[in-house]
Amino acid sequence: MKYDRILIRYGELSTKGKNRNHFITHLKRNIRGVLKEFKNISIQGGHDRMFILLNGEDSKQIMQELSKVFGIQSFSLAVRTNKNIDEMKEIGLKLVQQLYHNGATFKVSTRRGDKTFEYDTNEINHAIGSHILMNIEGLKVDVKKPDINLIVDVRKDGVYLSSEIIQGAGGLPVGSSGKAMLMLSGGIDSPVAGYLTMKRGVKIEAVHFHSPPFTSERAKQKAIDLAKKMAAYNGFVKMHIVPFTKIQEIIHKKIPEGYSMTATRRLMLRITDEIRRINNGLAIVTGESLGQVASQTLESMVAINDVTTTPILRPLISMDKLEIIDIAQKIDTYDISNLPYEDCCTIFTPPAPKTRPKLDKIQHYETYVDFDSFIKEALENVETIIVSTENESRKEGFSDLL
Ligand code: ATP
Ligand code: MG
Repeated sequence: MKYDRILIRYGELSTKGKNRNHFITHLKRNIRGVLKEFKNISIQGGHDRMFILLNGEDSKQIMQELSKVFGIQSFSLAVRTNKNIDEMKEIGLKLVQQLYHNGATFKVSTRRGDKTFEYDTNEINHAIGSHILMNIEGLKVDVKKPDINLIVDVRKDGVYLSSEIIQGAGGLPVGSSGKAMLMLSGGIDSPVAGYLTMKRGVKIEAVHFHSPPFTSERAKQKAIDLAKKMAAYNGFVKMHIVPFTKIQEIIHKKIPEGYSMTATRRLMLRITDEIRRINNGLAIVTGESLGQVASQTLESMVAINDVTTTPILRPLISMDKLEIIDIAQKIDTYDISNLPYEDCCTIFTPPAPKTRPKLDKIQHYETYVDFDSFIKEALENVETIIVSTENESRKEGFSDLL
């Protein structure tokens, strides 16, 4: 007996009333995105649950990918039968036979979503259970802690039998809460911020600043590799790579040293906000955590945030570094982030940046330079790529994905 499908139970979205279709559409698209390499599967989206028909594809690999998709409460490998008690008994027996080992205990747990079915829950448990007991020698019932739990789900369109419920990633389907731009460095924090934002249903596009030749090709590749980890949650991530060398050089020359970091952040934020506007994003996400470094004091945030009224989401704001590292390890970004390649900001960081910059001062210093033309030039030279879960990242042009 081979499982022919994966049954998917929805998470929080089942409580979302009218928005349900919207959520289901996003969930289906994201599942299709992460499973795009499995060409034979088909996905059936229903009001209460979704099915992935395997059509011969490897269920193990598929389940591994599925465990990252937000909006899924749990899933199970399942077999469908007709609503016929004899057929249910036979398939149930075959499933338990496969799982049976010497001395194993079992129980049957029936859920009857379709109340019109001729047998009630107890009758179904009893009919299937006794058929199995009669046919497997040595098998015993244990209703409290069985080794094998045969789950029988009677629904309008058929009966689904499964034996294990696997916890999903929870959260909301990526995209169902709108889109934001993630300022993605090569560090530990910003990928974690991206992950947490996606978990609440926000689709992200990554914005990365690099300063060749001060930063190497490997530093850029590191950010792309981190974006690839983000892509695992819905299949792909659009990434904007901004050439930042000229701006950093002019800041270094013209802005008093204590304020160069504040100026750098303000310019990064202005450029990110412009990319957000062009791409119809609603917010900006950063990996800032209060008090971690000089740029992350409240005074610094006041001075930097001044350049935009766009909401800035900072999911890590109250977290300790160790809590952040914990999540980074869980989502498998920690080792990449720890690679030693230089970041564009650290290279130009002065020995003593102001931890309490004054807004009026930085506003004044910025008048020394015509930054608008530098911003325009940087925007004209942004490189936009689609980073996919597949091995190579592809140039933009995959409009079906967007
Ligand atoms: P991270 O670990 O994410 O690099 P950090 O603790 O090193 O964060 P900062 O270097 O002060 O802190 O950066 C604060 C935030 O600014 C980052 O979390 C990120 O969102 C953004 N940022 C920093 N450098 C870059 C960059 N090169 N490209 C894009 N965003 C950046
Ligand atoms: Mg950093």
